[in-house]
Amino acid sequence: MLKRGGTIGILGGGQLGRMMALSAAELGYRTIAFAPEGDNVVSQVCDDVFTNKWDDSAALAAFAARCDAVTWEFENVPVATASAMPEGRIFPHPRALETAQDRLNEKRFVEGLGGRPAAYARIDSPSDLEAAVDRLGAPGILKTRRDGYDGKGQWRIGSLRDAQALRLPDVPLIYEGFVEFDAEFSVILVRGQDGEIRFWDSTRNAHEDGILATSSLPAGELIESQVGEARELARQVADALRYVGVLTLEFFATREGPIFNEMAPRVHNSGHWSIEGALTSQFENHMRAVAGLPLGDTATAARAVTMTNIIGAAIKNAQEYLSQPDTHLHDYGKAEVREGRKMGHVTKLER
Ligand code: AMP
Repeated sequence: MLKRGGTIGILGGGQLGRMMALSAAELGYRTIAFAPEGDNVVSQVCDDVFTNKWDDSAALAAFAARCDAVTWEFENVPVATASAMPEGRIFPHPRALETAQDRLNEKRFVEGLGGRPAAYARIDSPSDLEAAVDRLGAPGILKTRRDGYDGKGQWRIGSLRDAQALRLPDVPLIYEGFVEFDAEFSVILVRGQDGEIRFWDSTRNAHEDGILATSSLPAGELIESQVGEARELARQVADALRYVGVLTLEFFATREGPIFNEMAPRVHNSGHWSIEGALTSQFENHMRAVAGLPLGDTATAARAVTMTNIIGAAIKNAQEYLSQPDTHLHDYGKAEVREGRKMGHVTKLER
């Protein structure tokens, strides 16, 4: 167990790290962060930020020397960076990043555990794409294998002609058949250092332009009927990776059952509702797992919960949000508004 007052290092500087740091403080831990130059909002709530490039080995060594345990808040932290942290002191193990950073590896890994992703094909050239559209049909989605998030690095392909007209970026790609889903949901779990696993209730997730817009509970009958199978897969993924911390798997609910979309080896936007809506939030349980503490109860503490993201717009109406009953505003403290940028979220509960 991490000693009282110990320091937890966070790789990454965004809002997820900020919410982790707030939870760590409640548990009596200090936090420092490591992130390349940028609007690192974690700096507003942690002791110190190392503003260095991911491959600055001297800075990484100095950072590690100040940490009793390390975690990450960003799934595109290079594996080499995470692996530069002392073995046994970084949670989850960097092998989780290695699996999740490449959409092709991730799908193969999950299939090996019995999961069902959308039909997919590896794309390394224009002729691969034509063959894939021919074989899997259109519409479909072309995605970069690496570095995509919030719908970035994705192109919708409506027809073979679309595919032929596209100038492919010079990076490894994957083509996925379009899944005619009825709803989207995520399974979020926490796994402790002793292997204990707890799940939060699965929310119904609605996306706009590839970005999560809302997460709500109850999720509805269709999702509820598919959560069992999805959790079983998530449990197998967590056990296979000997995972420690919060892990997220996203699914499409279809008439044929849950189709795996992708995994995030970290706390997740679709779990933000748990700050007020569950007995223990994803952030607190992630910190408990990293610190080797007992996990908290993940039960939902309300009849209904809706988490709404504030995207690409300045937060001007705090008054309006906060004058509603049982409504909670989280402003991430970002200086600059950009299109598609997550500025904060609002959680509304009905007890
Ligand atoms: P991703 O970043 O891969 O999670 O994609 C973002 C969002 O785009 C998903 O949550 C879906 O709403 C949509 N999407 C991604 N892949 C597919 C697919 N193969 N079929 C249908 N919708 C998709």
